[in-house]
Amino acid sequence: ATPTAIMVGTGLGARRGVLFKNAMALEASAHIDTVVMDKTGTLTKGEPEVTDVIATGIDEDRLLALVAAVERESEHPLAQAIVTEAERRGVLVLRAEDFDSVPGHGALATVDGQRVVVGNRRLMERDSIDLGELAARREELAEGGRTAVVVAVDGRAAGLVGMADAPRETAGAAVAELQRLGAEVVMLTGDNEATARRIGSLLGVTAVIAEVLPGDKSAKVAELQAQGRKVAMVGDGVNDAPALAQADVGIAIGAGTDVAIETADLVLMRSDPLDVAVALQIGRGTVRKMR
Ligand code: ADP
Ligand code: MG
Repeated sequence: ATPTAIMVGTGLGARRGVLFKNAMALEASAHIDTVVMDKTGTLTKGEPEVTDVIATGIDEDRLLALVAAVERESEHPLAQAIVTEAERRGVLVLRAEDFDSVPGHGALATVDGQRVVVGNRRLMERDSIDLGELAARREELAEGGRTAVVVAVDGRAAGLVGMADAPRETAGAAVAELQRLGAEVVMLTGDNEATARRIGSLLGVTAVIAEVLPGDKSAKVAELQAQGRKVAMVGDGVNDAPALAQADVGIAIGAGTDVAIETADLVLMRSDPLDVAVALQIGRGTVRKMR
């Protein structure tokens, strides 16, 4: 490797807000054929907003008040969205006791004497909670690209909260550009299958790996590598860090968590997914000059 080519590539990247941490990151970027992208906060803005509150057998504001009390104790982005909506409606009034979070699944607590569980389908299955008529509503929300969490109160499915997280402006263009460069784009997310597929199809991503537990993202990257692929992983979250470390090139969104930024081989300072393509092109240009 000629030091000059490395310096030029690194400098070129830096000017465009693409920070390669070392020469190896730059060289590895030249050989990437698969780009795995986290959904929430990477392809999307990671700022979900509540779009639907559906209550059955309970007053809608009461349902939201119970859920918000639980979510006030959680640090998940979905929790934040629910708390914001409860504040907006003036129902952020209750306090939770015995809070517990189940990573990749949801959260639970006792609120106002009632046992409140909020989370995904898997969490409801664990507690043998039958969704009943809410199953179809949940499916509808998911088909529309909404993330829907289920709320159980005292062991009964009592409602749904639907949330939307808008794609980043350039997400679709980034996918198209990476594909033009010959890379396969794969979406990797903990969100539910139908929601992920819907967002994927909006953005032109056909390979979607959904409902992945936080601890399993790196194993999914390793599986792709075992097929002989050279994998770049793009992510922003704490739960993306092991996958960033596992990938041939770990790429962090600049607006992401410190852990992701520290673990990554390169950082996109502008948090623009299109810069993933810029990084691959700079890598290719550098390696060409070295030959
Ligand atoms: P993502 O990869 O989308 O950030 P996570 O692995 O953190 O997802 O969580 C996966 C799913 O678990 C979420 O889509 C949601 O359905 C559920 N979940 C996790 N934490 C919470 C929470 N605090 N409140 C409600 N649902 C949650
Ligand atoms: Mg994320």
